Amino acid sequence: MSSKDWIEKDYYAALGVEKSASSDEIKKSYRKLARESHPDHNPGDPKAEERFKTVSEAYAVLGDEKKRREYDEMRSLFGSGAFRRNARGAGQPGGMPFDVSDLFGGAAGGTDTRFGGGGFTDLFSSIFSGGGGGAARARGPARGRDVEAEVALDFEDAVRGVTLPLTLRAPGVCDTCHGNGAKPGTQPVACPVCHGAGVTTRNQGSFSFSEPCRNCQGVGTIVEEKCPECHGTGGVTKTRTLNVRFPAGVADGQRIRLAGRGEPGERGGPAGDLFVQVKVRPDELFGRSGDDLTVTVPITFAEAVLGTDLRVPTLDGTVTLRVPPGTPSGRVLRARGKGVVRKDGRAGDLLVTLDVVVPAKVSDEARAALEAFAEQTPPAAREHLDARVRRFG
Ligand SMILES: [Zn+2]
Ligand SMILES: [Zn+2]
Repeated sequence: MSSKDWIEKDYYAALGVEKSASSDEIKKSYRKLARESHPDHNPGDPKAEERFKTVSEAYAVLGDEKKRREYDEMRSLFGSGAFRRNARGAGQPGGMPFDVSDLFGGAAGGTDTRFGGGGFTDLFSSIFSGGGGGAARARGPARGRDVEAEVALDFEDAVRGVTLPLTLRAPGVCDTCHGNGAKPGTQPVACPVCHGAGVTTRNQGSFSFSEPCRNCQGVGTIVEEKCPECHGTGGVTKTRTLNVRFPAGVADGQRIRLAGRGEPGERGGPAGDLFVQVKVRPDELFGRSGDDLTVTVPITFAEAVLGTDLRVPTLDGTVTLRVPPGTPSGRVLRARGKGVVRKDGRAGDLLVTLDVVVPAKVSDEARAALEAFAEQTPPAAREHLDARVRRFG
């Protein structure tokens, strides 16, 4: 049992009732047919067994008021050509060939999901409202689709804020043929195979199978002279450029919402939103920690011991920081207000991490001086470790 079954199978015919039949009539007819075809009464008769299954399947839908409503709705949508509307307009790339079996192929449940209540509704919403305008809302205004975009910003642009042109590509209706796919001056004509219905029907047993017309892909019309712009598809890829303002301090991974800058709405509906995912390219010097900028500055052992004044670059200048004598490696100095400046004027700091560098090689003179220094220096405070080391001999 799948949604495709619902389109193809005429459960009313299977139960031998009118479409307008009351639930009592349906129940009565089902009981009669089920009794007649029941395998207990027809041992070894595969035809009867098949009929019993058919009748049961039909009653499982028509005997349930909610499912019957959904079934009726779906059948009427297909019969009335709503699918054609959907294929041609309402946010879908106009006139894109479609095939119901493609649409339902992946979603159609196996027998395990038999009559699973959610299947149809989920599928329905994904087909008919996913595009921002579906058959169910075909006559009213429909909100345009949201659009997702990704933008990579330079580190400094992200810190200071920047306005960038953003080019978006999205499927749209061809302006040359207004989506009908026909060369200007010509019109699509009714499909000779389905006579404009978009659906062909064949009968098999107690079922009549309706399927989208293969000649016109269910559209009901065919284009004799194709629009040169869209080659008859009715849809083109449209490019539009927006200037997007990225506020100062925008961070890597942030998602910016620009209300109403998504795809335009249908029939007077509001436009969708544009969501821009921000990537910030790393800087070779600076890092970010919220509103603070970070930078690491190497210093010599002598500078750490004796103290020094350091001139450190900021994003837009320099700042001089005092390294006090006896500063340990890893100490973080703070240059206030030299971080990210927000719109409200508040600013983060520049955090300067001092990194005492050990030279890999020293000159003879330096070595001699260091050895003299070592003699004058008490050993490092390692007693707490030595006690543990002695325990292991
Ligand atoms: Zn056709
Ligand atoms: Zn066109």
